[in-house]
Amino acid sequence: MSETDRAFVDCVVAGAGVVGLAVARALALKGHEVLVLEATGLIGSETSARNSEVIHSGLYYPAGSRKAQLCVAGRNALYGYCTERSIPHRRCGKLIVAASAAETAKLAAIDAHARAAGVTDLQHLAGEQARELEPALNVVEALLSPSTGIIDSHALMLAMRGDIEDAGGMIAFNAPILRGSVEPDGFSLDVGGEEPMALACRLFVNAAGHGAVPLARAIEGIPAEAVPPAYYCKGSYFTLSGKAPFSRLIYPVPEQAGLGVHLTLDLGGQARFGPDTEWIDTPHYEVDPLRGNAFYAAIRHYWPALPDGALNPAYAGIRPKIVPAGAPAADFRIDGPAEHGVPGLAQLFGIESPGLTSSLAIGDLVAEKLS
Ligand SMILES: Cc1cc2nc3c(=O)[nH]c(=O)nc-3n(C[C@H](O)[C@H](O)[C@H](O)COP(=O)(O)OP(=O)(O)OC[C@H]3O[C@@H](n4cnc5c(N)ncnc54)[C@H](O)[C@@H]3O)c2cc1C
Repeated sequence: MSETDRAFVDCVVAGAGVVGLAVARALALKGHEVLVLEATGLIGSETSARNSEVIHSGLYYPAGSRKAQLCVAGRNALYGYCTERSIPHRRCGKLIVAASAAETAKLAAIDAHARAAGVTDLQHLAGEQARELEPALNVVEALLSPSTGIIDSHALMLAMRGDIEDAGGMIAFNAPILRGSVEPDGFSLDVGGEEPMALACRLFVNAAGHGAVPLARAIEGIPAEAVPPAYYCKGSYFTLSGKAPFSRLIYPVPEQAGLGVHLTLDLGGQARFGPDTEWIDTPHYEVDPLRGNAFYAAIRHYWPALPDGALNPAYAGIRPKIVPAGAPAADFRIDGPAEHGVPGLAQLFGIESPGLTSSLAIGDLVAEKLS
């Protein structure tokens, strides 16, 4: 096929996870003609379907980082969007629990970070105050985050899809981008699947989640130094049989690669624990029931009454890391022409938590970078 036979679209977004959809929505609302290309047959079937569905307040991230800025902006935008579009959610609040005297210093550090990052509604609770809220807790001291909540993430993505389509955008399913090249006036893309396509576009957004690094490497003309390495940190979840013992989300003080084995609730009131952290070489989503053994010890640290045999293997998600195990946590990489020098290109790497919370703000940032 000659280059002139390629169908032209103003803007292509790779990936229909919550971030790709938010970016496509922001671009479509700005008047761009947008086509989302999704490798699978569904919206939000990868990391966006395998997370804790928590609306984070933004208290963990270093002041000035993209994660801090986008989480706070995204959280506020998300609560507004949920109300406007009747997306099921609940501002249930969360307790970060120091279960021993040794952990209280970490709480103080989280509090200091949070305030510097613009999260000013945290409340310090003494052990008795925290137990008044959640009597089952083993707690020496706690932080209450009233602006943390939970959301039906699939309903969120359906609302975003509606906005994209109402603004004239489209989503093509079973349409993996296989390869492409940077051209003088945009991009050429070869799309596989049942109905292969040869496309040209002026703007291209790589929001392919775990696929973002391989996709960037498959596009000729993207500088190799603009593409980070990819690492995978799996997180497994276990659900709790029986009634949830808490009405708020309960988090231990965080570990290095994740937030610790925490308790979240879904909108139906089902409690689940996780995700843990397991660095893996090849992505896979099986949950090893034996990992539950370590959960019992971690959970009993803050909930001693957890009954034997109460945890059931549930599901797993994989954090798209761009630094290896042991390295300090990386910030989101949201690179536009100013960062990599390619006009019309935005690339998103390492969009782990709080990517769901930040999604609307990420969409606005990418649209701004490409305007
Ligand atoms: C265990 C875990 C818990 C989390 N908990 C939370 C939380 O409570 N709150 C929060 O705010 N965030 C949370 N996150 C983060 C959040 O889930 C992610 O930031 C978000 O879902 C990322 O969305 P995405 O669209 O970037 O990626 P994805 O959802 O993975 O979407 C990428 C899409 O790109 C498609 N794709 C890949 N390659 C190609 C290609 N070549 N061509 C076309 N399509 C392609 C994939 O099929 C996929 O649908 C969590 C993450 C994990 C792993």
